[in-house]
Amino acid sequence: MIVKFWGARGSIPTPTRPEVVRKKISSVLMRAKPADLASPDSREAFLDRLPPWLFGTVGGNTSCIEITLADGTTVIIDAGSGIGALSADLKRRVEAPRTFHVLFSHFHYDHVQGLPFFAPAYDPRYSVTFYSPLGDLEKILKSHMVHPYFPITMDEKMSKSLVYQTVTERVFTIGSARVSWFELNHPGRAFGYRFEENGKVFVYASDTELRDHDFDKTEENASFYGNADVMVLDTQYTLGEAIEKFNWGHSSFSLGVDFATTWNTKELYLYHHEPLYDDQRLFRNLRSARWYARRLGNTELAVYLAEEGAEVQL
Ligand SMILES: [Zn+2]
Ligand SMILES: [Zn+2]
Repeated sequence: MIVKFWGARGSIPTPTRPEVVRKKISSVLMRAKPADLASPDSREAFLDRLPPWLFGTVGGNTSCIEITLADGTTVIIDAGSGIGALSADLKRRVEAPRTFHVLFSHFHYDHVQGLPFFAPAYDPRYSVTFYSPLGDLEKILKSHMVHPYFPITMDEKMSKSLVYQTVTERVFTIGSARVSWFELNHPGRAFGYRFEENGKVFVYASDTELRDHDFDKTEENASFYGNADVMVLDTQYTLGEAIEKFNWGHSSFSLGVDFATTWNTKELYLYHHEPLYDDQRLFRNLRSARWYARRLGNTELAVYLAEEGAEVQL
């Protein structure tokens, strides 16, 4: 399976501000020496040496990931503003999928605000199924897209063949993957998903404020969190902020490293980035998270930032 990030920001879309672009350009200019600018090759080499926070960006779109399963099935988790970028990308693909399985963690704005811009939902030639463990999925989705907040409603303009699937079984199948869901700790309820396919495990756990009992070595916890090859985890805050924002429903990156260590995760992706953090700050948090993993003695865990546009192959 291939996981692609279309939006990794938490809470609110966060475009890069002009002053941040200016700061990046200014920092690049300060680093450049005359020899770096002498030829096309030296310029490319100079760009390659720039730190990732300076040259790139984790992006500003809110939660959305695309999973391509081994049999070609396309799964989307969450319809934050990132699903708008995914929708635009589908138009450019030579062989775009025709069937979409869209799973929702929950229905806070940052996880549904892109849905009105998901073009396949309007086109009857596409098959779109929405999933959630909540029984009133159809009502929830339809009631978020109404006048005067949006000019058209789902009933008026979206395809008549949309399917609203309440997931009642703890384990179900999508394409070639075995999928299970679990409840997270988040105001108003949120759900995580675990995908297993060809011996590989992918876990999506956002939004969640990790609690003591998430670390308990119970069979139930192990069946959700255990032995993930890749885990995408809500790690919005630093530990200090997580303490300040107790009960807001998000975790810290350091607790995330503890959690990934407890559950024998191979690759941890820090996700649901705090809107107030710029790229420099996020990459500093990443360095701290990696340092903390080593300090715990966990040399097996790889920690990354979820970055818009990045792909992970499992
Ligand atoms: Zn969120
Ligand atoms: Zn939320």
